[in-house]
Amino acid sequence: MGASPTKVRHDLLSMTPEKLRLSLGEHFLKRGQPDYRIGQVESWLYDGLANDFTEMTDLPQRERRGLQDAFEIDQPFAKLLQVSQDGTAKHLWLLKDGELIESVLIPADRRLTLCISSQVGCAMGCTFCATGWGGFKRQLTAGEIVGQYRASQRWARENEYGPITNIVFMGMGEPLANRRSLPTSLTTLNQGYKVGARRITISTVGFIPGIVALAKRPEQFGLALSLHSPLPELRSQLIPLELRYPLPEVLQAVEDFKKDNGRRVTLEYTMIEGVNDGLDLIDPLGEIALQLHAFVNLIPFNPIPQNEWTASKRARIQEFADRLKKKGVSVAVRETRGRDIDAACGQLKAHAFAQLEKTNS
Ligand code: SAH
Ligand code: SF4
Repeated sequence: MGASPTKVRHDLLSMTPEKLRLSLGEHFLKRGQPDYRIGQVESWLYDGLANDFTEMTDLPQRERRGLQDAFEIDQPFAKLLQVSQDGTAKHLWLLKDGELIESVLIPADRRLTLCISSQVGCAMGCTFCATGWGGFKRQLTAGEIVGQYRASQRWARENEYGPITNIVFMGMGEPLANRRSLPTSLTTLNQGYKVGARRITISTVGFIPGIVALAKRPEQFGLALSLHSPLPELRSQLIPLELRYPLPEVLQAVEDFKKDNGRRVTLEYTMIEGVNDGLDLIDPLGEIALQLHAFVNLIPFNPIPQNEWTASKRARIQEFADRLKKKGVSVAVRETRGRDIDAACGQLKAHAFAQLEKTNS
């Protein structure tokens, strides 16, 4: 006889609340424990944000050990924290297999927005994005997605940042391409951690099957489309996925999403000087926005090490905003946050390894 096979401990964070109840129900039934034990564990996980079964102090020692043998809480470990001059806080998380991901907390007025990652790296290869240049490593598990929220919420509570009010899937990765874990994590954030669907936004570069799947869900999650150019040819130079999912089809999918979901969609437009900020682009951009009744976010490009591009001039961004407004488009210029710590859009993972080496030396 060889050594006994290693027992698989199922990750509680990767389960939807429904699955969690079932698994815990079976577990406690086998152990002759009352049903209310399920509620105790749920409360420790969803309200107490417990990282470890030893924290669950209202359970008998024996039961804490029993849980430990059967399950795990696969919580990412905070490897590095950087706080920007503007209060933006970026966490670098170490995953069980040694991979690293980042998430960012952005305080503004009475809001605290958490920007989370959905993949290690990204396969989409957008030319203006540091994550895209790094390539794709692997999908995140639902637990690793939810784990960024739990750990950030704990940190925010302990550091007087207040509770997280909004979650945006705008960190590393294309969320809709994580077809297994994204749906589970959305359900769990919404039903387990009670983050309202309307406070969760998924940003996509135009992955049509994912848009279609999201539209079928009953909850009103928000959708943001990374547009960056109203013209397919220019767009394909920035976003290689344009060649697979051409803009007219993407826009149709977004239109259908809006009909099913009932919510206004956001168009994101990163403004790069001399690349996609020509005045001739305002008309076609305005047309798309009006057609979709979409909200347009103009985002100054954040420099990345991989190319020489710079942000459009302030005056040009303002001109885009003013002329779009005149056409009746709802538009905002998104202020750049956390640039000094490479926490701004598209900069994630830009220097993560360099920083790690610095902190380790
Ligand atoms: N993959 C998804 C979500 C992550 S990217 C997506 O692309 O939508 C989040 C946002 O940051 C997207 O709108 C993306 O286009 C934008 N972005 C990427 N690189 C950027 C950069 N260097 N400067 C400004 N915005 C950038
Ligand atoms: Fe991936 Fe979004 Fe970056 Fe494109 S912009 S490479 S889709 S993370």
